Amino acid sequence: MLPIHLRFANLRQAVSIASVLADRGLIPQFKKRGDQLFGPCPVHGGDNPGAFVVSLSKNLWYCFTGCNTGGDVVRLAQLLDRSSYAQTARYLASLADRPPVPWDNTPGSVDHAFQPFTKRVDLDPSAPWFRQKGIHTQTARAFESGAYHGPGFLADCVAVRLHDASGNPIGYAGRRMNTGEVQHGKWKFPRSLPKKSILYNLHRVNVSTPCLIVVECPWGVMRLAQLGIPAIALLGIQVSPIQLDILIRFPRLILMLDGDHAGRTASAQIQRSLASSTDAHQAFLPHGKDPDDLSDDQLIALSGYFSL
Ligand SMILES: [Zn+2]
Repeated sequence: MLPIHLRFANLRQAVSIASVLADRGLIPQFKKRGDQLFGPCPVHGGDNPGAFVVSLSKNLWYCFTGCNTGGDVVRLAQLLDRSSYAQTARYLASLADRPPVPWDNTPGSVDHAFQPFTKRVDLDPSAPWFRQKGIHTQTARAFESGAYHGPGFLADCVAVRLHDASGNPIGYAGRRMNTGEVQHGKWKFPRSLPKKSILYNLHRVNVSTPCLIVVECPWGVMRLAQLGIPAIALLGIQVSPIQLDILIRFPRLILMLDGDHAGRTASAQIQRSLASSTDAHQAFLPHGKDPDDLSDDQLIALSGYFSL
């Protein structure tokens, strides 16, 4: 049985359909009238602005054109991502932790509300967590990452420092150490973080690098950095138009997303989005493995970086 925070009965209550739409950058396409949102259907992809209707109070949706069906937030996430029950549960759980989304159709309002947190937090880079991931203490230190042993937002988390594209610190993201979900512990992000414009480690990557590796998670970035291979992390599997605009500046990309269904599906989608703009390839990880589960030799082989 799934842990309690991943059970669908809880997620149906905790996650709004609007937050799924917001996560995909779709809110600006929607109009709110009373209790309802109207917009084009993200499931079948039509452009009829009245096709897809959401009841905010009931947290239910219906598509009146292509799909002629509807349902709750779980069914919507499943239809959008065609992912397994476990993946859908994890995805929705990750949304449950985020701040409420705005309904006012003003794109960018979330970004404006974000206040960068520039203070340095005391983190322990020698935590056993990093050894399990094959990350050396000096690497964790260089990335301003470590276990946080205090109260508050980062309590019980391993944290990484986040920067904007110019390298200015903007705060920390944390992953709980004690979830029991070794592969897929939930990330916590600062309130209103403009996640769609952030690529983790971008400020350390040289734009003239012949090849950039794209991973989901900062741990993969750190493992690759130890091998001298430049990488950025999406901090998830969604790629926004802003992030795509940044990625196409690199002549060659290797998409090294996790070796699960969600990672592979996202990887194929990203490759299609980039196809006409840059040379993007998928690295197929062994089933169920993340980059930080692999040996150095496997990472080098999959990245293809030294065989260019
Ligand atoms: Zn539809």
